Amino acid sequence: MQSEIELHHPKNLAEALTLLAHYGPDGKLLAGGTNMVVELRDGHHNGKSLVDLSHLKELRGISKQDGYIVIGGGTTITELIDHPLIGAHAGILREAARLFANPLVRNRATVAGNLVDASPAADTAPPLLALNAEVQLMSQVATRWIKLEDFITGVRRTLLQPGELLYAIRWPVPSARSAGAYTKVGLRKADAISVLSTAVMVELDDVGVCQQTSIALGAVSPKPFRAHEAEALLKGKVLDSALIAEAARLAAESTRPIDDIRGTAAYRKRVVAVTVRRLLTKAVEVLK
Ligand SMILES: Cc1cc2nc3c(=O)[nH]c(=O)nc-3n(C[C@H](O)[C@H](O)[C@H](O)COP(=O)(O)OP(=O)(O)OC[C@H]3O[C@@H](n4cnc5c(N)ncnc54)[C@H](O)[C@@H]3O)c2cc1C
Repeated sequence: MQSEIELHHPKNLAEALTLLAHYGPDGKLLAGGTNMVVELRDGHHNGKSLVDLSHLKELRGISKQDGYIVIGGGTTITELIDHPLIGAHAGILREAARLFANPLVRNRATVAGNLVDASPAADTAPPLLALNAEVQLMSQVATRWIKLEDFITGVRRTLLQPGELLYAIRWPVPSARSAGAYTKVGLRKADAISVLSTAVMVELDDVGVCQQTSIALGAVSPKPFRAHEAEALLKGKVLDSALIAEAARLAAESTRPIDDIRGTAAYRKRVVAVTVRRLLTKAVEVLK
């Protein structure tokens, strides 16, 4: 039998933080509820106090500040699709948002909820990793920025501590000489959990030498991650097809996929090599 759950609707951020401090490990956050309601129904949070963040204006908004794009943790996936700053400076995130779930879920689901849930297949993670994003964690007593790469530590595990919420996400505005590409492989074109997803960013100098690349992969390891060895291979070089193919091979080698109902580990590894090669090639083409 399900035990009672106390639901709180704080009027503002300060009230939400006070409630979180009060309840400590027994306090849980509710945003869009698209994961949480399923978990509640399955009895995972019995006896806990739920703090509803869904109507807090302080957690919303997308802006450009001091060389960063900053989005509130409570920003919905739909808001990402529609916002001009995301279109202009984070096309790979916009594309991931466009392919996320279905319109009903996108209208409720938040970026913070997606990152804190920390599924290996969380679709906002690869583009945000490729953009070098950081997350801002806030409690009643302190605020800290952590690299997204460090924040997600494993399957449904993060560095979020009791009493903290994910307040904002930011990433440096990409240089004008950079381009990105994103792809999601699912079992159908819409409303599909990722079999795998890939996001890349490439920055070239004026003569075509690679200044930096980021290659981020989802659903092929216990957590979404960056293929650093493959990235390092490309730095300081002109990206021809042989070099790109070698980087794609290294990226595939760095995965630790599993067999599940959506695909085999062998299939995932093989397709990563294909998606990384295609996306790097596409990004380089855009910059030519
Ligand atoms: C039909 C369906 C389809 C889906 N399709 C996809 C998909 O295509 N891609 C994908 O990635 N996911 C998908 N999901 C999963 C889900 O929609 C996302 O993970 C979503 O982003 C979760 O956000 P939310 O606001 O609903 O979080 P909630 O369910 O409210 O919360 C999720 C977790 O995050 C915590 N949390 C929420 N906000 C904060 C905050 N500000 N600070 C700290 N902790 C917080 C909650 O305590 C909870 O642990 C799907 C879910 C459903 C039901």
